[in-house]
Amino acid sequence: MYIRSSLAIALSFSSQCIRSCVKPAVILWLASSFSVYANSEQASTTPITSIPTVTYQYLEPNSAQDKKAMQLIKQSDAIKMVNDISRQHVQFSPKLTIVFGAKDGTLYDPEIHQIQIPYQYINDAMIRFTQNHYAETGIDEVQATLDTLAHTLLHELGHAFIAARDIPILGKEEDAVDNFATIILLNYVDNGADIAISSADLFAFEDQDIDTFDDLDFIDEHSLDIQRYFHMLCLIYGSDPGEYKSLLSEIDDDSRQEREDTCIYEYESISRNWLRYLN
Ligand SMILES: [Zn+2]
Repeated sequence: MYIRSSLAIALSFSSQCIRSCVKPAVILWLASSFSVYANSEQASTTPITSIPTVTYQYLEPNSAQDKKAMQLIKQSDAIKMVNDISRQHVQFSPKLTIVFGAKDGTLYDPEIHQIQIPYQYINDAMIRFTQNHYAETGIDEVQATLDTLAHTLLHELGHAFIAARDIPILGKEEDAVDNFATIILLNYVDNGADIAISSADLFAFEDQDIDTFDDLDFIDEHSLDIQRYFHMLCLIYGSDPGEYKSLLSEIDDDSRQEREDTCIYEYESISRNWLRYLN
């Protein structure tokens, strides 16, 4: 019900959908590479560097599946995106290290200035997209998984950027870095909205696994998966209400107009405030 890959929805081209509602963008996305462009509106704070300000480590995979995940990551556009972002918009000095194949994560460890991503993260995402027949939306499970990797890398990059720049966070940091990731996708990455939609859908899939909530869910540093899903859709909609008109169609008619207006405001506010800190 919440997901763009809701197949009946996608295949019937009903108005109640996510992935199929952005079909023109999907086609464009399929036809284009994952290039990054500079936003001319933001203030420049740090010179653009010619080389990425992140480095990568790939730990030895322990299984054939992990090896496949490692190869997928190495060849992915997500790495190129992070390289471009770390040169142009979010520079790190000293360089930030991203370790793939780590035991724990996904996480940013401020003590060693390192992002850790287990290969299992890729395997789990792939399973969820496959189980939900995501390929039938026009985005296959491999691409959807790499989309979520891109969003997750940006989320962790957000933690690192906050720590490195001592950026004041007036609220939940996890929400702030979710916003950071989505704002970067929407402002600097070609077809970033499509990448964000795949990532939002993974939150919706994860939400489907939950039968009941307990106190730990509510006190967790992260918002609930379903909240993260809707908030991402809200920002995407707010970034271009004309293009993503149908994105909020699963919200009741009575309250949709109000939410649409709020989403436009939220996107503008959050985008403007993050762009203060980005090149
Ligand atoms: Zn986080």
